[in-house]
Amino acid sequence: EQKVFSQLGRLRKLKIKNPDLKIGVCGCFATRDGASIASKGAGVDLVFGTQNISKLPELLGSLEAGLVCDTAPVEPDFTELAPIQRQDGLSAYVSIARGCDNYCSFCVVPHTRGPEWSKPSNLIVDESEAAVREGFREINLLGQNVNSYGKKIENELSFGGLLRRLDRIDGLKRLRFMTAHPQVCDENMIDAMAECESVCEHLHLPVQSGGNDVLRRMERGYTVDEYLSKVAMFKDRVPGGTLTSDVIIGFPGESEKDFEGTLEVMKEARFDNIYMFKYSPRPGTPAESMEGQLPEEVASDRFQTAHQLQREISESLHRELEGSIVEVMVEGPLAEKPRKQVEDAPFVEPLLQISVPKRFVGRSRGNHRVQFHVEGPAPRGGELVDVTVLRSSINNLGGVALPVGVAMEETAT
Ligand code: SF4
Repeated sequence: EQKVFSQLGRLRKLKIKNPDLKIGVCGCFATRDGASIASKGAGVDLVFGTQNISKLPELLGSLEAGLVCDTAPVEPDFTELAPIQRQDGLSAYVSIARGCDNYCSFCVVPHTRGPEWSKPSNLIVDESEAAVREGFREINLLGQNVNSYGKKIENELSFGGLLRRLDRIDGLKRLRFMTAHPQVCDENMIDAMAECESVCEHLHLPVQSGGNDVLRRMERGYTVDEYLSKVAMFKDRVPGGTLTSDVIIGFPGESEKDFEGTLEVMKEARFDNIYMFKYSPRPGTPAESMEGQLPEEVASDRFQTAHQLQREISESLHRELEGSIVEVMVEGPLAEKPRKQVEDAPFVEPLLQISVPKRFVGRSRGNHRVQFHVEGPAPRGGELVDVTVLRSSINNLGGVALPVGVAMEETAT
């Protein structure tokens, strides 16, 4: 939120040079604090919520009369943004739901984005087919809680059913989604992940804490054991799948035992990566006024401990991939940032001698960032290439692309 105000300060300078410039602010923060943004962020012309995006043309038309602020909740009409024009790219983001009904006690989303609404599956299929026709090779389904998809619409597909339907789209190479909730992570969804060729073997399943008391106060709707049983089901049915998560460290009342529980979950689940946050209160949420707010030093110490553990787990998991072959969707030539690249991934150092465009970057199905060397014709963005992993670091894999025509079975070790 502080960054929003400092960015507005920068934009205001542009407005001095160009008085016709219009500045608009949109998002959850804008929905919650529209009035204060308008008063503190001098120079702002328009404040609107995420639910009001489709009214943007109309709102822009009203600016002559002065500041416009529209954050009123509205029931979504999912046809309102069609037709969608996407910029050229590899991955098309397709929103399948809006809002959330969960009311986790730390989260502002249900208060700002409103209740959960699923987009009718026929619209999702149409939008995805159109994106693939335009040349997108990957679809990324978006929602706060994608796997509770369809629950309010009679005769609608389940989330697993939606994955199966989209998997039938001709030309679709990869299907991903974000974010799944552990409470509604079920067999139907995991089996669809296992059986649909296009669905990537990557599951982001936020655990948030490894303490049952903390989970209860967070109102997450599952226990540690229930969470771990979903993890076991995923690992069992999607062999080699990548698991990532979100963790909040230092939630109000988090005891040393709760924190130890979080470390235990991390060791057992062996997440490939975690988006780890130190708890910070969100105004208007129940957690803001809970007893047991932790001193900063305690939260920081725990954060460092958990962060170090995760580095070790990530490093070890990535090392296990050395010698294997991964399918990579090419994003493009590796950007020239030698110093940073070398720090992040020492294995690229020898490759720095090789002139561009022999070094490329892309994503594996497990969502690893892969830097690789190519002998022969440069691959195009969106192409799928098999890469032998030679080196790894915490954040990257590095290797060489197999020459065209070499089958994976011939070279697999
Ligand atoms: Fe919903 Fe996720 Fe926020 Fe919980 S954390 S209320 S599931 S958006």
